[in-house]
Amino acid sequence: MTPSPIRAAERYAVIGHPIAHSKSPDIHVAFARQTQQELTYEPLLAPLDGFEATVRALMAQGGRGANVTVPFKIEAFSLATILSERARASGAVNTLRFDAAGIFGDNTDGAGLVTDIVVNAGVAVQGKRVLLLGAGGAARGVILPLLAEQPAQLVIANRSSDKAVTLAGQFASQGPIVAQTFDALDGQFDLVINATAASLADALPPIAGSLFGPHTLAYDMMYGAQPTIFLHFAARHGATVRDGLGMLVEQAAESFLLWRGVRPDTASVLADLRSALGT
Ligand code: NDP
Repeated sequence: MTPSPIRAAERYAVIGHPIAHSKSPDIHVAFARQTQQELTYEPLLAPLDGFEATVRALMAQGGRGANVTVPFKIEAFSLATILSERARASGAVNTLRFDAAGIFGDNTDGAGLVTDIVVNAGVAVQGKRVLLLGAGGAARGVILPLLAEQPAQLVIANRSSDKAVTLAGQFASQGPIVAQTFDALDGQFDLVINATAASLADALPPIAGSLFGPHTLAYDMMYGAQPTIFLHFAARHGATVRDGLGMLVEQAAESFLLWRGVRPDTASVLADLRSALGT
């Protein structure tokens, strides 16, 4: 009997700068084990001026795809030769797939956020009053998937308020989105999403505690061993709180699906990451 050929494991990576802190390799290795997919997944540190060269080297070495993280999501958008609709809408790419047709770029961050809120936390967005804080890459990536859930209203507020106005204008045809300044925000929201980078600097966006109430879910895209200052503030004002670890795992699952055609179960992987964080 002729032995069946041994297939080389297919190669994937996450590219960023810095990259050592990334949890994506652990997540994708766990997904591969769970779904019995033969693949490798490694962190790749790209020089700040060397993102494209890093992608091309990975492709030349037989790589099949990559996740892209800070600060290269906009460059990945430019490098992609074919874009998904959600990537085009967000202007940023966090997932690349290399195939015969070229470099396919997708953005799975928004789907990851929505799945974490709607499925994992069990909180519907439909009919709710939603506040999105921030107008950077992460905020842009989640607007379309949030509007697809049909909220009653999506308010976007940003420190540089002109960016919020621009985004609200860009997505106005997709659903009930409006921009407001931080000062003008009033009434309680059902869902408040912190997509600013403020938590990275242990800072709080300038928001009033009266925006939160007992029916509010406060969501910080950042995650860590301790709740962020934003989540502390929201909890003090009666909100239920959730960090962005679930979003991280769910956006990874969406990338894995794009690459491998199989959706991994995320619950056990999220639970393992949580316990590794010590939370
Ligand atoms: P960007 O640098 O693109 O945008 C930063 C945003 O934060 C801007 O809107 C900026 O406002 C605002 N901002 C920064 N500092 C402050 C502050 N002190 N007060 C108020 N607003 C502030 O970053 P990203 O959009 O890529 O990332 C935002 C956050 O989302 C990060 O914490 C990141 O870690 C997290 N993230 C989490 C993911 C996950 O899977 N969990 C995925 C992607 C991102 P201005 O325009 O005025 O400068």
